[in-house]
Amino acid sequence: MIVAMQDQATEAHIQSVIERMVELGFNVHRTTGATQVILAGVGNPAQFDVTEFQVMGGVQDAYRISSPYKLAGRSFRPEGTKITFRNGTVVGGEEVVVMAGPCSVESKEQILLSAQQVAAAGGKFLRGGAYKPRSSPYSFQGMGIPGLEIMREAADKTNLLVISEVMEISQIEPMLPYVDVFQVGARNMQNFNLLRELGHVRKPVLLKRGIAATIEEVLLSAEYILAGGNYDLMLCERGIRTFETYTRNTMDVSAIPVLKKLTHLPVFGDPSHGVGKREFVPALALASVAAGADGLLMEMHPNPDKAMSDGAQSLFPDQLTQLVNQMKALAPIVGRNVGGK
Ligand code: PEP
Ligand code: MN
Repeated sequence: MIVAMQDQATEAHIQSVIERMVELGFNVHRTTGATQVILAGVGNPAQFDVTEFQVMGGVQDAYRISSPYKLAGRSFRPEGTKITFRNGTVVGGEEVVVMAGPCSVESKEQILLSAQQVAAAGGKFLRGGAYKPRSSPYSFQGMGIPGLEIMREAADKTNLLVISEVMEISQIEPMLPYVDVFQVGARNMQNFNLLRELGHVRKPVLLKRGIAATIEEVLLSAEYILAGGNYDLMLCERGIRTFETYTRNTMDVSAIPVLKKLTHLPVFGDPSHGVGKREFVPALALASVAAGADGLLMEMHPNPDKAMSDGAQSLFPDQLTQLVNQMKALAPIVGRNVGGK
């Protein structure tokens, strides 16, 4: 159930609604929007009458939600979720935020150079995996914590933020000092124990779509994180597996506007994994902006031909610069900007 309070509702009004919801057996999540407080009741009380809430003091409207994702649904925060970061970057506002960097952290030199190139191109986040989910156990598995130390140092020097993938619960705590966003990869989208644990963390999370996940499944996975009280969550379309073999995955650009309608959470596009071939990444990046993405997560490497993972889909640094310039020209058409105007 959603209870939308009136703009003028007092704290006493809000508290009496919460008390009644708790009495009925709801778990109450409270969010404050631009002008009004919204209370989401999660749970399945045996019996309740929604009209009881509609007539309570300070209530503007109360209604049942039939969708299985109560907190991820747009009605929990009709105006959308905005996440503000320490360097002033806001995700979910007018800016289409660029996150870029190599697939994997490989060396200090590689990351320092990447950070300079991403910052110069207009990116706000440095991406790079220190824990890598590889299809083969014999492939490079990542540098772990020393890799994250390098990421933090490089990002701090260039006023960037750090996004890096967390693969299991035991990595959350040690990663906390180094990352600004935890990335949950496609392969872990339904690792429900990991998601539940990330719900208890007070640090933003970017949840990628699984390779065979429906949009509803993405939203239900998001619900696991939100239900723990971590509302700083972003979603990311990164391509799904189809019968097509020419591209690595099929970038489902249509998921972007659909998710923007169904949820208040910011939605990113990852055209690098989405298409898997460098030459097509700019087209899918621009398509994602046109489709309403709140940001892009992209792979760029100082020397893609020497990359230890995903070199074929990693942009050259000057390609990233050129692409961000094209995004800057395109964004105003859809009421957005890139790089803060
Ligand atoms: C990555 O971002 O490098 C990655 C492994 O992505 P995904 O989980 O989408 O495959
Ligand atoms: Mn990758």
